[in-house]
Parts: sequence; C-alpha cells; structure tokens
Amino acid sequence: YNEKILKWLVEHGYDVGNHTMNHPDLLTIDQAQTEQEVGGVYEKLEEIIPGKYVPIVALPFGSPYDLEHPNMASIFQGTFNGKPYTTKSTLQVAWEADASPYSNAFNPTFLKRIRAYDNNGENFDIQMNFDRLNTSRYISDGDPDTIVYPESEQASLGETYEKKPIPYTPAE
Ligand SMILES: [Zn+2]
Repeated sequence: YNEKILKWLVEHGYDVGNHTMNHPDLLTIDQAQTEQEVGGVYEKLEEIIPGKYVPIVALPFGSPYDLEHPNMASIFQGTFNGKPYTTKSTLQVAWEADASPYSNAFNPTFLKRIRAYDNNGENFDIQMNFDRLNTSRYISDGDPDTIVYPESEQASLGETYEKKPIPYTPAE
C-alpha cells in the first residue's frame, strides 16, 4: 500500500523526501550505518517513484543538530548497494521558521521547518510561528527585482543577487 501512497503524493504535487529507513537517532550510529539508513531510502524511492522525489533528508529527531558531525558527511554523499547518492539539503526538527533565503542566517543545506498544525498559538504551532515572524519577516512588494526586508534585520541581510534591497518598518 505504501507504493500507492507514494505515487498518489507525487501525482498530487507533493514533494517526497528521505526520513531514513528506521528513524534512528543519528548520534547513536556510525557513518557506515548512516549510509545504509539514507541510501536504503533513496534506493526504494528510485524503485517506486524514479526521478520524482527530492534529495532532502529530514533528520530523525533533528539529530545530530550539527552540520560538522561526521555522520552529516554520510548523509550528503554516500553509496548504497554500489550506487552513489547525493543529498542536497537536510531538515532540522520542526519548531521554528527559517530565516529568509536572502539572510546571512540562511543555510540551504540545513533548513529549519515548522509544523502546519494549529494549537491555539502554543508549543511552536503555526500561529506561534506567524506571531514570531511579525517583526522579522521579509515581505513581498510585488516586484520580483526587489527584496523588502525589516530594517531591524539590516545586519543580517546577505547576498541579494542583483535585486534591490528595500528596508521597511514592520507594524507593531
Ligand atoms: Zn520523524
């Protein structure tokens, strides 16, 4: 039935990624085991939805919380059953929104994420995350050639890719 689920998700526009074979805490296994955990899923995805998944690993429990941990190297590059794989990004444990892609704080290989559930603004639900973004979010002014950022974030504004940065003052 899982094959049906995967195909349905892809046909309905969902992105399917990698969450390891057995959901281990990556702090408790070694690099060879990490390759088995990550590569095993890529092999399955390639078998069931070839070329139609995203090379992104959602880290079980968010572990090891550190890009420099040796197992991270085995998440990004490895071999399984003689076939090499490459991971483009990893997802941290869900609790807060990431910085804008135009911020220095943004790392495309180690993404923060939020859960899209409502818990009346408690425990890092979607409402709590939106509230926290009130004064820090980058917004759109409708012009694809500009980046509109909160002026308080001036120091964290990173590469703007030839777009014109425009500061704004968020409403209280
Ligand atoms: Zn999980």
